[in-house]
Amino acid sequence: MPFFLRYEYPILNYHRVGVQEGDPTMRVSQESFDRQMSLLASQGRAISLEGLISLLASKPPSLPKKVAVTFDDGYEDNYTHAFSILKTYRIPVTIFLVTGWIGKKEFLSWEAIQEMSKEGISFGSHTKNHPYLPSVESRQVLEEEIKGSKELLENRLGKEVPLFSYPFGGFTEEAKQMVQEAGYQAAVTSNRGEKGRERDLFALSRIKMTDASTPSLIFHIKTSGYYEQFKKKKKAC
Ligand SMILES: [Zn+2]
Repeated sequence: MPFFLRYEYPILNYHRVGVQEGDPTMRVSQESFDRQMSLLASQGRAISLEGLISLLASKPPSLPKKVAVTFDDGYEDNYTHAFSILKTYRIPVTIFLVTGWIGKKEFLSWEAIQEMSKEGISFGSHTKNHPYLPSVESRQVLEEEIKGSKELLENRLGKEVPLFSYPFGGFTEEAKQMVQEAGYQAAVTSNRGEKGRERDLFALSRIKMTDASTPSLIFHIKTSGYYEQFKKKKKAC
């Protein structure tokens, strides 16, 4: 890679696995997911998001070329269609749960969450009701979404919940501040990250993965650590 490109830790973002319905940018087939995780495993680069954050927080940032995998929303298919693949390839992941959706149709039950948690899957908060935080006017509601969801998950899981994901990737300075005050160690957005965002532990950008990311060349580019810069350069041409 040219010397002027800086490695940016790729944080991959998935939603649904192995379902046909819904937005194609929010799902991958089970075959695609299996292939993508096998490619990641063959590179030996998978690390938990917590692990990746410790690397980012180290000064100067340590740069082993690692990749973290995350899921948003807590769909039931994460248990029925992704969990066994993650176990096969030993890929650590963080699933960001919307506490108000747990146990509802198509979403993870507490039983599945407990089982996955025991098997090493990490869970983060994705709020209580999935609001677009910049539209939330009441500070009390914002607190309930950010802090309340953390407390609820910690009580049920019996472990610390250090990571937060902004619904729709949207946040304000106030929300970001509140995430820090609530005791989270880091927060992720969507792929709207701006230049330098990867250095802000409370606004880490992510790379959305779909079926189109499966061919190995595309997968390697997306997980290269230079993808966002590559995209920007392409746009600039
Ligand atoms: Zn979401």
